[in-house]
Amino acid sequence: MAKKGRVFSGARPTGRQHLGNYLGAIKNYVALQDDFECVYCIVDVHALTTVETTQDLIQNTYDMALDWLAAGIRPEESIMFVQSHVPQVMELHTYLSMVTPLGKLTDLPTFKEKVRQNESNINYGLVGYPVLMTADIVLYNTDFVPVGVDQAPHLEFSRETVRSFNYRYGKAVLKEPLMKNTEIPKVLGIDGVQKMGKSLNNHIELASNAEETQKRVMQMVTDPQRLRRNDPGNPDVCNVFSMHKIFSTKEEVAQINSDCRTAGIGCVDCKKKYAANLNANLAPFRERRDDLGKNPTAVWDILHDGAGRARVIAEETMGAVRDALQLPK
Ligand code: ADP
Repeated sequence: MAKKGRVFSGARPTGRQHLGNYLGAIKNYVALQDDFECVYCIVDVHALTTVETTQDLIQNTYDMALDWLAAGIRPEESIMFVQSHVPQVMELHTYLSMVTPLGKLTDLPTFKEKVRQNESNINYGLVGYPVLMTADIVLYNTDFVPVGVDQAPHLEFSRETVRSFNYRYGKAVLKEPLMKNTEIPKVLGIDGVQKMGKSLNNHIELASNAEETQKRVMQMVTDPQRLRRNDPGNPDVCNVFSMHKIFSTKEEVAQINSDCRTAGIGCVDCKKKYAANLNANLAPFRERRDDLGKNPTAVWDILHDGAGRARVIAEETMGAVRDALQLPK
């Protein structure tokens, strides 16, 4: 079947993936493969902007690739690769930086947030992060980038950069990517308050075993107003209930909804049910992950093969870019 265009997305190598990564990104990556030619990149160079030691970079890249594959990325169909394996992206980044006003970069909300988070490490790479992201996208002649609302300013930045480049160098060399508006659910951590994330240690790893998963689920914070077993609860404010809506059947969800409100079910049983359903849902993923993990070389081969295919597209784009820039041959 003919595909509807090329999609690009990248994520920093954060190692073993958690439920937030799965529901917020990977699930959509897998689904997009049916309709689009997909290019998925593990952006190790981006990771350098905030990571001070690189000792875990290889392991984190491998673990993330393993999770993506086990979740259903089809490497024979999609291109899955590591950013630094296609060095042309660094070259394009430099050229794009020439048409990028500095003020535009320092005005971006994510930059301001990063500055607040770590005032002592505001490096040049961090400021230029969106330029490198633009290079990632346009190097592969991308049609669509799946983004949620909070990433929209970044994509708009990329589109403007492409327009500036094409305007300055007089040719429609680079393709202006379109935003594929994507509803990205915000998955809360087991604390029930903050976004699930590794750094907060409030996450549930996809690759954990069933016992570890159950243990984490049993630590989940439920409706804070419900103090005793006999108090009626409010599922509308309960993170466990929102997870039931994803991993339990419609009938179970309806039952829990009414039982919680009448104190017919306690939080402990409700969580046990969720843990069981979550584990059942993740069982095929875990089986595939175990299988793939038996042969790490094959996983790296997949990444290297993806990089080879990505380099072919990249070289084509760079040929046109170098011509447009009138660089000496
Ligand atoms: P990056 O900074 O490269 O996006 P992250 O590890 O923060 O790396 O996230 C990777 C992907 O997973 C992103 O698409 C992000 O939106 C998604 N994600 C991470 N945590 C959550 C969460 N708690 N809820 C929903 N999506 C999440």
